[in-house]
Amino acid sequence: MMAGKTKKIPIRRCIACGAQKPKKELVRIVRTPEGALLVDRKGKVSGRGAYLCPSEACLKLALKKKLIERALEVPLTPEFVEVLETQWADMLEEAPSDAR
Ligand SMILES: [Zn+2]
Repeated sequence: MMAGKTKKIPIRRCIACGAQKPKKELVRIVRTPEGALLVDRKGKVSGRGAYLCPSEACLKLALKKKLIERALEVPLTPEFVEVLETQWADMLEEAPSDAR
């Protein structure tokens, strides 16, 4: 065991690929107490959340296997699928793949 102060980084698991990553590297999808679905990129909306990598592969897998529905126990509307696809496209544009 290492002594000293270690800052605890919250780790969450991607519902598609199962990778565990710091919370801020994943995208949170929230079902609010009112039953609305949101992409919560700041991690501040209250409600039941599911986490996904900001990668096209994980989004596609989650949609194909209905992992978001299962995690949030709510059906996805075609409108929300479109929101997800738009958000992911934006994120992929913001984060050039060679910036690792
Ligand atoms: Zn993933």
